[in-house]
Amino acid sequence: MRILVVEDERRLADSIAALLEGKGFSVDAVYDGEAGAQYAALGVYDLVILDVMLPKLDGFGVARELRRKHVATPILMLTARSALEDRVAGLDSGADYYLTKPFDARELFACVNALLRRQGAQVDELTFGNTALDLASASLLCGEHAIRLSAKEFELMRQLLLAGERNVSKETLLTRVWGYDSEAVENHVEVYVGFLRKKLAAIGSDVKIEAIRRLGYHLEVKGCD
Ligand code: CA
Repeated sequence: MRILVVEDERRLADSIAALLEGKGFSVDAVYDGEAGAQYAALGVYDLVILDVMLPKLDGFGVARELRRKHVATPILMLTARSALEDRVAGLDSGADYYLTKPFDARELFACVNALLRRQGAQVDELTFGNTALDLASASLLCGEHAIRLSAKEFELMRQLLLAGERNVSKETLLTRVWGYDSEAVENHVEVYVGFLRKKLAAIGSDVKIEAIRRLGYHLEVKGCD
C-alpha cells in the first residue's frame, strides 16, 4: 500500500509518514501543491493525504486537478480550518474525507483505514488459482503449505494478483513496488519474479507468472492453456 503525503509543514509531514510506515505502508512525502499534483497523478498511490494550505497550489486546486485528470485515488484532506464552507469546498473539489488539525494518530489511522476499505483495498487475502496471498502475514498459501515473502516479493505479488490475467508492464511494477525515486531498474523486476516463481513452485501452486515480451507480466493457472 502506497500513500502520498502532501504537507508543507515538514515536521508534520514526516511524523505522519513515520506513523504510517510504522503500520507497514510505503509513504512518500512532498511539500508543495505542484509536486503533490505531479506525484499523485502518477496513479501509483492507494491514498493521498492532502493539506489545504500549501505553497504553489492549494489542496483544493490539487484535488480538482486530479479529478479533472480522472485520477480516482481517494483523498484525505487535512486542514487547520474547520469552517463549514471549507469542508464543503474540499468535498466539492474531489476530497473524500476531511480531517481537522490537530488530530491524533488514532483518528488518522481510522480515516486511512476507512478510505482504503471503501475502495476495497483493505482485504485479508488475494487469491488466484489454488493460491492465496495473506496480506497480514505476507505469506503465500496453497493447501497446507505456506511460505513467507520478503517485503518486495510481497508487494510485487500483490500487484500481480490485483492485475490477475491483465498484463502489467515492468515499468509499472517497478514504480509501484520500488517507488518513483528509486534507483531500481527493470532487471530487479525480473529477478524478483524469479524468486516468486520459485516460492510458488515450492508450495505446489498452480499459479504461473507469464512473461510477455514488451507487455510485462500476467498470471495464469497452469494446465488451463
Ligand atoms: Ca499547510
